[in-house]
Amino acid sequence: MKTHIEKSHFNQATYRGRFAPSPSGELHFGSLLAAMASYADARHCKGHWLLRIDDIDQARVVAGSDRHILTTLEQCGFQWDESVSYQSQCLIQYQEALEELKQAKLTYPCSCSRKQIKAACATLTNKEGIYPGTCRNQSTQFSATIKNSDKSHAIRIKVPAHDISFIDRIQHNYSQNLSRDVGDFIIYRRDNVFSYQLSVVVDDFHSGISHIVRGYDLLDSTPKQIYLQQQLAYPLPHYAHIPLAVTKENLKLSKLSQAKKVDCSLQTLVLAANFLGQKHLNHKDFDNKDDFWRYLVTHWDINKVPKMENQVIMV
Ligand SMILES: [Zn+2]
Repeated sequence: MKTHIEKSHFNQATYRGRFAPSPSGELHFGSLLAAMASYADARHCKGHWLLRIDDIDQARVVAGSDRHILTTLEQCGFQWDESVSYQSQCLIQYQEALEELKQAKLTYPCSCSRKQIKAACATLTNKEGIYPGTCRNQSTQFSATIKNSDKSHAIRIKVPAHDISFIDRIQHNYSQNLSRDVGDFIIYRRDNVFSYQLSVVVDDFHSGISHIVRGYDLLDSTPKQIYLQQQLAYPLPHYAHIPLAVTKENLKLSKLSQAKKVDCSLQTLVLAANFLGQKHLNHKDFDNKDDFWRYLVTHWDINKVPKMENQVIMV
């Protein structure tokens, strides 16, 4: 099988990083931070840096925003390797991975509505609303019926009872018990969309990504992704999660509708680098953006990135 040949040929010694924005709007300061951290780390390690447009959820796509994001990155001075990939063009790969998980009997169909899950959780005094596995223990007969019926259903993956731990390059030890903290999670949505968790893992594998640098908001998705990587026999990438930019009022920049489009000035780039702990840079010390990038790539130190969830930024 083709995928198995690729799996054994994966070369972990080669650094391959990526930035994967969703085309749901303009590039704002929060995404600039993830782009900068992943880029500086890849280049500092003499690695490749790839761009991927995470457009799996077509309902959230804002037409034309992929072009805007690419133009903004270019104007900021980012240079990416290889052609830009789009999740919407990789559906066959997701389908193959889903089949592999199904074959391994790790999945089951779930037709529970949100309301039913809420009701089931209430009887179990499960305040977190963690899926209680209602459909996991249904008979195979039930699975066959649900599979063949027209009724839409999601596909969930059975999660293990043990802890999944990893060492984040910035946040250090992180551990989660998927069974207790998450529950069997959805890998294929009832509206016929492959879940973020599955698509991101399959994409990173097929692009040979060895290092992932992204925002803290995805830290608690990492154990789910590691679990999927383990089940699909993919190599595990190295992870680093940077703090999120928040306003004085503790509002996440990424969630603010008024979060402004990045202006690509040298001042903004220096502000981002300082936020990432590469202090105490001053835009007056650089002749131009090229000069800034040369400096940042040479002096980049991931150990200086603050080990915290949120950091205040003035907007
Ligand atoms: Zn269910």
